[in-house]
Amino acid sequence: DTGDERAAKIPRYVRINTSLWTTQEAIQSYTARGFSLSGPFTSSQGFARDDHIPDLLLFNPQQQFHDDLSYKSGKIILQDKASCFPAVILAPPANDKSVVIDATAAPGNKTSHLSALMGNKGKLFAFERDRKRFSTLNSMLSKAACKNVEAVNADFLTIEPTHPKYAAATHILLDPSCSGSGIVNRLDYLLETENSEPIDQEQRLIKLAAFQLLMIRHAMKFPHVRRIVYSTCSVHAVENEHVVSQALKTDEAREGRFKLAPKDDVLPTWHRRGLSEEMDVANDAASLLRCNPGEDATNGFFVSCFVREQGGQPLQD
Ligand code: SAM
Repeated sequence: DTGDERAAKIPRYVRINTSLWTTQEAIQSYTARGFSLSGPFTSSQGFARDDHIPDLLLFNPQQQFHDDLSYKSGKIILQDKASCFPAVILAPPANDKSVVIDATAAPGNKTSHLSALMGNKGKLFAFERDRKRFSTLNSMLSKAACKNVEAVNADFLTIEPTHPKYAAATHILLDPSCSGSGIVNRLDYLLETENSEPIDQEQRLIKLAAFQLLMIRHAMKFPHVRRIVYSTCSVHAVENEHVVSQALKTDEAREGRFKLAPKDDVLPTWHRRGLSEEMDVANDAASLLRCNPGEDATNGFFVSCFVREQGGQPLQD
């Protein structure tokens, strides 16, 4: 399949922004407009609820929502199914005391998802180091009515983990820059993979992996963090299983008692798991989640979840 052919088999994914309305209200509204809950490929007007992500709807790929009022008003977010996994797996607590970090936030799809899952309560710090992308992030956050988010134009690696403002964070989402090799419905996918010489590509992946590992190690230094989700839209084991295997061997992981969350705790109903042959400990692959472009009706994607082992004193919610 070419990238275009693969993209045609991917439904139009619409995530309901539950900060502004409920999924039930959305279904009623689309039904009243002539859509029918018969499945995304039955007709151009067909749609369905997703099997794995509670607030995700699947429409026919012919449907465009960019001019739709529900999109313009922030009530829906156009977000690939695979990229909805990280926030759901992080499962941030929804109470007034919650402190959560999105370390690499722009353009803000996952930030708005986290904010909604938190019931727009507590505090969600969203870091973005790039100035232009930071401004995109701010537009997205105001459009999506994310009232519990404080966006910070800073490099996450410069944030002191014991800083009084951030030290209470219990959940961190890390969705750092990656090769983007899993993206099938974007033109720059072609640019990124086909125009680079193989040797450049290899060097690039090695550099990205080193940066990604640094980000995980930094997240593990936050004193109260007990759940860290690391995700990429890459299909390369170098940026995925290899980074996770290395992270588990670091001083930060050992001292912080971090291990991979068991499969039961990482969307167990999703069929495609990590590549066991690419892990130091083959059994750990079950804890990881992958999406294959072309086979899973999503972009290529990878998600892992580190949790702190609970020795002695229970860590607070
Ligand atoms: N999570 C976002 C979403 O779902 O909309 C996409 C994040 S994108 C893959 C990675 C982002 O992280 C880029 O905007 C990049 O500028 C930013 N970034 C990379 N390194 C960073 C760092 N050290 N600190 C803060 N932001 C960083």
